[in-house]
Amino acid sequence: MLENITKKKLENGLREVKNLQNLSVIQIPQMEYFEDKERRFKPEFNDSIDWKKIVKEERWGGYDKVFWFRKNIKLPENIEEPLFLKVFLEKDGDLDVIPDYPESLLFVNGQFVQGIDKYHKEAIISPKVFQGNVLNVYLRSWTGLRGELNYTFSGLELYKIEKYSQKYYFLAKNILETIDQLGENDIVKVKLFNILNESYKRINFTKPRSKEYYESIKDSYNFLQEELKKLRNFKMDSPKVVLTGHSHIDMAWLWTVLHTREKAQRTFSTVLNLMQEYPEYIFMHSSPALYKLLKNDYPELYEKVKERIKEGRWEATGGMWIESDSNISPGEFLIRQILFGKRFLKEEFGIDSNVVWLPDAFGYTYALPQIIKKSGMKYFATTKISWNEINKFPYDTFWWKGIDGTKLLSHFITTPDKNNYFYTYNGMVEPFTIKGIWDNYKQKDINDELLLVFGWGDGGGGPTYEMLENYRAIKEIPGLPQVEMGRVEDYFERLEERIRDKNVPVWDDELYFELHRGTYTSQAFVKRENRKLEVLYHNAEFLNSMVLKLLKDFEYPKNSLTEGWELLLLNQFHDILPGTSIREVYQDARKDFEKINGIANKEIERAISMISQEIKSQEDSLVLFNTTSFERDEIVELENGKKTLVREIPSFGYKSIKVSNLEQRQIDEKMIVKEDYIENRYYIIEFNKKGQIRRLYDKENKREVLEEGKLGNVLQTFEDKPYFFDAWDISPYFNEKMKEVTDLIEVKVEEESPLKGVLKFSWRFYDSIIEQKIIVYNHTRRIDFDTQVDWKERQVLLKTAFPVNIRSTKATYNIQFGNIERSTTNNTSWDIAKFEVPAQKWADLSEANYGVSLLNDCKHGYDIKENVMRLTLLRSPIEPDETADRTEHIFVYSLLPHTGTWRDSQVIQEAYKLNYPIIVKKIEKNEEGSFPDNFFFIKVNDPDVVIETIKKAEDDYSVLVRLFEDKGSRKKEVEIEFFKSIKKAVECNLIEEEEKEMAFKDNKILFNITPYEIKTFKVWL
Ligand SMILES: [Zn+2]
Repeated sequence: MLENITKKKLENGLREVKNLQNLSVIQIPQMEYFEDKERRFKPEFNDSIDWKKIVKEERWGGYDKVFWFRKNIKLPENIEEPLFLKVFLEKDGDLDVIPDYPESLLFVNGQFVQGIDKYHKEAIISPKVFQGNVLNVYLRSWTGLRGELNYTFSGLELYKIEKYSQKYYFLAKNILETIDQLGENDIVKVKLFNILNESYKRINFTKPRSKEYYESIKDSYNFLQEELKKLRNFKMDSPKVVLTGHSHIDMAWLWTVLHTREKAQRTFSTVLNLMQEYPEYIFMHSSPALYKLLKNDYPELYEKVKERIKEGRWEATGGMWIESDSNISPGEFLIRQILFGKRFLKEEFGIDSNVVWLPDAFGYTYALPQIIKKSGMKYFATTKISWNEINKFPYDTFWWKGIDGTKLLSHFITTPDKNNYFYTYNGMVEPFTIKGIWDNYKQKDINDELLLVFGWGDGGGGPTYEMLENYRAIKEIPGLPQVEMGRVEDYFERLEERIRDKNVPVWDDELYFELHRGTYTSQAFVKRENRKLEVLYHNAEFLNSMVLKLLKDFEYPKNSLTEGWELLLLNQFHDILPGTSIREVYQDARKDFEKINGIANKEIERAISMISQEIKSQEDSLVLFNTTSFERDEIVELENGKKTLVREIPSFGYKSIKVSNLEQRQIDEKMIVKEDYIENRYYIIEFNKKGQIRRLYDKENKREVLEEGKLGNVLQTFEDKPYFFDAWDISPYFNEKMKEVTDLIEVKVEEESPLKGVLKFSWRFYDSIIEQKIIVYNHTRRIDFDTQVDWKERQVLLKTAFPVNIRSTKATYNIQFGNIERSTTNNTSWDIAKFEVPAQKWADLSEANYGVSLLNDCKHGYDIKENVMRLTLLRSPIEPDETADRTEHIFVYSLLPHTGTWRDSQVIQEAYKLNYPIIVKKIEKNEEGSFPDNFFFIKVNDPDVVIETIKKAEDDYSVLVRLFEDKGSRKKEVEIEFFKSIKKAVECNLIEEEEKEMAFKDNKILFNITPYEIKTFKVWL
């Protein structure tokens, strides 16, 4: 009781000390300003600008505008210590609402000083920039994109801070907060309380702002310091908290990439400014893509950043080009993130980054440990899994074992957030977090040093001077873990050393994120573009590599592809690809995709033309390019409807066929297509009056594919109102309100030929129209559902459901470079949490001798519980993009019932075939041609091993071949064969660093491979 009263007294007193710390205050109620439509970065103006006066209480603002404010301030006296400038471009208000506050960059006498935003209203101005006693102040202010965007100009204040008042304030405040963190009977608490109270008694408030008052403050401060020294013995050596300044700057989210570039300028200026005043301050930033933009936008600022990097106080780490998504991003893209990221850091800063820094991505694929380790990186840091809604993740420091068995040292930053249950990457520096990070931490038995990144993030800003003052104060106070500034890379190296020979827990699974499950589906067009670009860049690289090795003097289009890749990788950002950004971000993304597509299409067209021109042909022909690892049979169709089935198109190669052979080949196979019935070589499919499948019979295996009495391809809709993050989440209760799409408005037989049967259905659902062609073939067991949706609904989720006649407690999902098994039961809370899971191109439910796969050409959200296989087709969230997904969509999903388990089936090949259609090029008669009509570039003799990537090596003219084992088998003497003999072969890591010479014979390389292993070879032909 008494303690509380004393505390109140001290708190009140401290408030007063803070109020009295500002000296020689100059009020500046008026400035000049204008709206800068050119959005220039620097205060470089000609005379034509019409500066207007703005005075206190005047309103300014508007959507996404840049204004410049200026004022010449004359100082009344010579000043040798730093000045503080407090900027009120908006009234002081509630800081808890994220949007709706102007963000400015402050310039004084021509130099950028620091960012001004709602968390950084005070700028420290070093005496170095105000020689001559004149401050020529400019503010470049961005209004923002959300909220009212009308601000009230409230003037500026310029002042000095009385040194001892400031020191006393921070020390006393942190002692008070430390007292709150300590246990009732803790002797340190008692002692701290006493000395603080004693120091307070020495302050003489009789004549505030008098010399006497400030002397009493100095006396109190010195007393407090002396007394703290006496408590030295109570200071702990352990645990220790290593602090690194940080600012999570999303590449795009509630703002666009353009705004991010501006945010970087503000945030980085602030960091540099504070580094001048606080020599101990260390800061870390992770995105090479943003460094590159800064280099282009603001070279002077970039050079200053570079100096600090060289000095070691600014840490450039993280490794990936941007902080990528890893649920939807294909494996090759994740590798390129590291390839591009690491290369940039090396080339620009001479840094070899070892830490993959993904504090905020929405779940982490089981493939990641191998990708990270084999890209020459060693550590993984995040916080996000602590947001799990249902299960608390059991470890904070652990070996994360990946799909192939690779172990990756992983660490969660356990900094508490005052308003939330989860850990944060936007840490504060205060006794609450310093104590809390340790209290939260679960591996206290193996490690007593933790990493705390501090600074305002989620849009930039970064650390404040208050945080740095708090750090200095906390360093002196006993009772809390030790604090020390440090670097992230060094932290991880020490962590690795510290846990050596300790009993470190192992997590052998994906890091599934129990939240944000809607991000596998939201903004469907981005997912579709993403998948198509995966194919396009794969094709562009392979086809150009082929030309490189077939034609002399060919220049591989490295520069243009690199340009495409950089933009492509940028759009893998963890708020762009997941669909969680505002509308403007997706308007930009559409433009980016156009450019990225354009680059790849141009290079593909050039490559196939160059090859086709060289093919010997007696008459007009078609060249069919197969860019997959598998020899395949495909139907080729001309615009005039002529089609034929072409057999054995070689893997990574081409086959040319004469146009005159394109007469429909009558193969002796059954194909019946009626409005309620399809029968081909493999199946009998019967439909009910609503267009749903009421029977799917597998003729070859003599079994019903669907559960008895259940319907297949049921289009299910659900009210989709997550309780908080609309574009992010699917409510765990979404299943409660299901409606089937049953309003069939048309059914039409579109094709009935021996090669192909097509039955088209059209449904209405409220304001939306769903059209679907169900396509069956006689050369493949795949049943395609080629779908077009005009989607007009708000907050509605659309799934297709197949209740299949399969009993299994595990389903298998395709992920990057492999697959993962997940439970189909709800036995545990971990199973329950996985009610929607991410996948790449297919998922499967198999029993011992039979199974069903569900494939897709651009969808990622699946759920398979008990025997019901579902794929999420569409959503339509209204926040943060009110218009999300209410547009036309096209996509294909396919059902593939098969003999045996998925391992015995053709699912891997069929998924590639669905996603990588053959490329057809018409050629004219060319008897001069020297290329054969049938050609393979490379092939592999083992169907479990998939060649994923063929490209020119980054640094020489060898061909880079990346392949992986896709079924979990250990294989001996797998053989890859090239079209010509090999001169040299080297195995390298994923980022193309050479590791060992490979033996080869003629045109073949033999190697062993372990389950889900990724291998990369450089081969000189
Ligand atoms: Zn983020």
